[in-house]
Amino acid sequence: MVVERRDKLVIARNRMVERQLQARGIRDERVLAAMGVVPRELFIPPSAVWGAYDDRPLSIGHGQTISQPYIVALMTELLEPKPGMRVLEIGTGSGYQAAVLADCEVEVFSIEVIPQLHRWAQTNLESTGYADTVHLRLGNGYLGWPEEAPFEAAVLTCSPGKLPPAIGEQVVTGGRIVAPIGGYPFQDLVLFEVTDGGLLKRRITSVLFVPMVDVEPGTES
Ligand code: SAH
Repeated sequence: MVVERRDKLVIARNRMVERQLQARGIRDERVLAAMGVVPRELFIPPSAVWGAYDDRPLSIGHGQTISQPYIVALMTELLEPKPGMRVLEIGTGSGYQAAVLADCEVEVFSIEVIPQLHRWAQTNLESTGYADTVHLRLGNGYLGWPEEAPFEAAVLTCSPGKLPPAIGEQVVTGGRIVAPIGGYPFQDLVLFEVTDGGLLKRRITSVLFVPMVDVEPGTES
């Protein structure tokens, strides 16, 4: 019975990769392979398991969501993950995006502001075998993670009105930042390329993420 359940989930995962990712233009082999391996069903509440590979975001409690698989794949592809790369993530949530990056052999530094989600993500990453290369921190990601900077890339999975300046400063020249910009509810997924002369900005598509909380520590957001 247990094997049967696992087989069904593997079939659903492979179908998701084919129909939701490849069919919509995700091409990076590393990203496709990671999305075909990371068990999304172990990063959602157990009651939602049969919807694990649906083409939509899912609730993870505390008013937060795990993104639609296509958006996770798109954001990961835009980061151009390579083995050994160090990536900063703001908004650990369930840990799923971090696990997908870790499966691309990236070292992830991920910050989450809600203590229960921070702890749950740690458990999820341990049980799926990604805890060694994903480092978690509880706190406000607005100021990034200066002690671990610089990073080759950064990804925000919560939406600030504008890119927090510290994040731009903590990514190396030539690095990439992918972030939903605009607050709530209208946001653009933006790719920033860090150059000597500043940040080059490219709008990718419209998205809907939860807002980044406490945008500037000590001020009203
Ligand atoms: N990447 C996650 C999805 C995260 S949802 C996944 O794969 O499941 C967005 C997360 O950002 C939420 O968990 C929310 O609590 C967190 N968040 C919001 N504002 C934040 C901030 N200022 N610093 C760190 N995390 C924040």
